[in-house]
Amino acid sequence: MMDWFWTLVLVITAFLGMEVFAWYAHKYIMHGWGWRWHKSHHESHHENTDGVFEKNDLYVVVFSLVVVGMFAVGDLYWKPLMAIASGITLYGVVYSLFHDGMVHRRWPIRWQPKSGYLKRLVQAHRIHHTVRTREGAVSFGFLHAPDVRKLKKRLKQQQAASVREDSPE
Ligand SMILES: [Zn+2]
Ligand SMILES: [Zn+2]
Repeated sequence: MMDWFWTLVLVITAFLGMEVFAWYAHKYIMHGWGWRWHKSHHESHHENTDGVFEKNDLYVVVFSLVVVGMFAVGDLYWKPLMAIASGITLYGVVYSLFHDGMVHRRWPIRWQPKSGYLKRLVQAHRIHHTVRTREGAVSFGFLHAPDVRKLKKRLKQQQAASVREDSPE
């Protein structure tokens, strides 16, 4: 029998761990070998021919299936796994509200943050989207919002570096 305290610890740890996982997945999978799906998310909407959905949404489908599997396995064999799966689900809900809702306006939410952390969050992700190619993007987190000036500086440095790489010798 797990008490509520450890359940809560697991839920919060899984929630925070998901941001770390999402950062790596976004940088190394989505902007790596998984670019084929993620590309759609870096194109503007009129270039997208498949309506409301983007190919990128397949990631949500895959991750959801994994979490459903975790709930099932946890229920049968190891209850703490259900707490972990709950933390991941919570992250998914928050991600969907902020990333899809607030930044990309896929939900009918008109409100835009005017200051503080949430404004930084929106700006940081907008900067991620200024790069429309697989390489050279910055700001891969979804809840971690670094200083916008720092991000812009890093973006410039990376673009300068990639120009050097591309130039013929
Ligand atoms: Zn991206
Ligand atoms: Zn986005």
